[in-house]
Amino acid sequence: MVVQQNPIDMSHLEALLDFYSSAGVDCFMGDKPLDWYELTNKQAEQFRQKKTVAGPPSVAPTLVAPERPRDARPAQPPATPAAPAATRGEQPSAVLPDAQIIAAARDIAASATSLEELRACLEAFDGCNLKLTAKTLVFADGHPEARLMFVGEAPGRDEDLQGKPFVGRSGQLLDRMLDAIGMERSSTYIANVVPWRPPGNRTPTPQETEICKPFIKRQIELVNPDVLVFLGAASAKTLLGVQEGIRKMRGRWMAYPGSGKEIAAIATYHPAYLLRSPLEKRLSWRDFLAISQSLKK
Ligand code: URA
Repeated sequence: MVVQQNPIDMSHLEALLDFYSSAGVDCFMGDKPLDWYELTNKQAEQFRQKKTVAGPPSVAPTLVAPERPRDARPAQPPATPAAPAATRGEQPSAVLPDAQIIAAARDIAASATSLEELRACLEAFDGCNLKLTAKTLVFADGHPEARLMFVGEAPGRDEDLQGKPFVGRSGQLLDRMLDAIGMERSSTYIANVVPWRPPGNRTPTPQETEICKPFIKRQIELVNPDVLVFLGAASAKTLLGVQEGIRKMRGRWMAYPGSGKEIAAIATYHPAYLLRSPLEKRLSWRDFLAISQSLKK
């Protein structure tokens, strides 16, 4: 008997890919779903049992971080990450980092006397679970002595692949906005509050943010820019403690406590939001003009 194979229905496949893409699935990583929270909970528990948080490196730190070998990464990731244990109504698990890890992060970050050392400290730091799922550390890009520094929330897929912040579509828009005020990206400094991509581009949890906060604060201290721009509300909320939404807070000058000086700080729309809401670009344009004016002072 001849078995007639069904021809592949391309339109069906396209519709399926379209569905995945709009649901936020942006790359294929495995053929079985996996609960990353479960996995990272286990790894965090092992970490807590060992009670080891890496300190500053004893070897000379390097500027260019080597990529972690692929086989050093844990098993296969899920198509879509599960909700955090807390939102699933389960008992908060051991993955919730305790004050000890946050305190260790503070000590480690404070011990770095240069950006190179800080990067090396982050490379060696095992206290944030996001490191388990990210491919690379996305430390920063740009000029270490820049007068203008941008801080976003967390890297996305392109950033994770390239190891640099804001290199995807939103980064390209940021470059164009800089171009519009006559500046080049390479003359600025760009970083994120969280330096590892959260799986599936989910929002970093408050715990992950708290653990990473000392590192971005130290990064700001070491760069010591004249103007600090928060891209989106998340980084402004984390670093300035403001509670308002971005619509209210954007465009207003605030003061960020720098090392030995107050840094002029402003929040503006995240470029990813502008890609979805292009009409808001005119307000961002105002913010960028204000930023440009402030750098001329
Ligand atoms: N969004 C961010 O907040 N940071 C990046 O690096 C990229 C996108």
